[in-house]
Amino acid sequence: MNTVLGRGALAARGAWVLFVGFIAYRLARTGRTSRWRSVFFVAMAWAFVFQFKSSGSPSTGPRALESPYCHIAIASSILNQAYNQYLAFRSGHWPAWGPLSLGFLWLAVTLVLGQAWCSWGCFYGGLDEGFSRVLPKALLRWNSLPGRLRELPAAILLVSILFSLTSVLPAFCLWACPLKLTTAFLDPNDLTRRLQLGLFAATLGGAIVLLPLLTKKRVFCGLLCPFGAWQSFWGNVNPFRVSIRAEACTQCRLCVKVCPTFAIEAEGLKEHVVSPYCNRCGECIDACPTGAMGYTLLGDKTWDARLLLIYCCLVVGGAVGGMFLP
Ligand code: SF4
Ligand code: SF4
Repeated sequence: MNTVLGRGALAARGAWVLFVGFIAYRLARTGRTSRWRSVFFVAMAWAFVFQFKSSGSPSTGPRALESPYCHIAIASSILNQAYNQYLAFRSGHWPAWGPLSLGFLWLAVTLVLGQAWCSWGCFYGGLDEGFSRVLPKALLRWNSLPGRLRELPAAILLVSILFSLTSVLPAFCLWACPLKLTTAFLDPNDLTRRLQLGLFAATLGGAIVLLPLLTKKRVFCGLLCPFGAWQSFWGNVNPFRVSIRAEACTQCRLCVKVCPTFAIEAEGLKEHVVSPYCNRCGECIDACPTGAMGYTLLGDKTWDARLLLIYCCLVVGGAVGGMFLP
């Protein structure tokens, strides 16, 4: 029996390695980024969903059923986590340091990927990306955002951190997360629980399925996810950037139109600036008719960093995706 399971697991790992290798080959061969990145990203997200549902818990272990613990939870409950680590440090209770090691893992990933995590490694982001790609054309045109609406994830992050601290509970996970793959930690009070589940279903249906389907925009990632705001801040420690060469740009605004997360604004484009919310998906680079856009290291436009970025993303993303194999 063990031999059969061992062979199955080996075959699954072999298939995953071949799949990642195939994606790398297509990325290198076509010279375009977003399409094959998307195939990889969506496959990883659905592998996570199936693994989670089939085993009852993600690969991080059964305790995940009791406490929501993912990168979105780290960001939105950071002060609670910091306080827990302080208590663990004071008590000398070393096993309680587990969350801190996850924090170091996040830091390492951020150093290598930065904001690219949100388009190459996040096992949730692939869900709204997948729905945003079902239809060949948007049924609802939505190219830009009014006013400061792009700052909404930062506001959600701030409010979540403060509410989590004052309630000593992960506020975003309980009330706003549309990606709840477990409901074990919800409020035991029936009415409160129903409200939480109602919000969960509404955000899931609206921001992950319906709006991405109609608009071809990643609405949850672009407008709601607090981790996107968190990563747009911390991601600056990473050298990869998406840059615009002023001399080649005709201000046609195609990049604004195709950006799935509203990371290029008309005002910024005039200055040839991409916002820190850019998660390196490559959609604008592929679409730009004059080749004015590209991946760079710290904005140095004399050197194309595309292959280096792809290498880093596939190594980290491939390792993360490998956790969700049967
Ligand atoms: S798509 Fe290219 S040429 Fe058009 S505005 Fe954007 S960067 Fe400039
Ligand atoms: S600016 Fe370009 S690379 Fe960045 S998220 Fe938008 S489309 Fe993707």
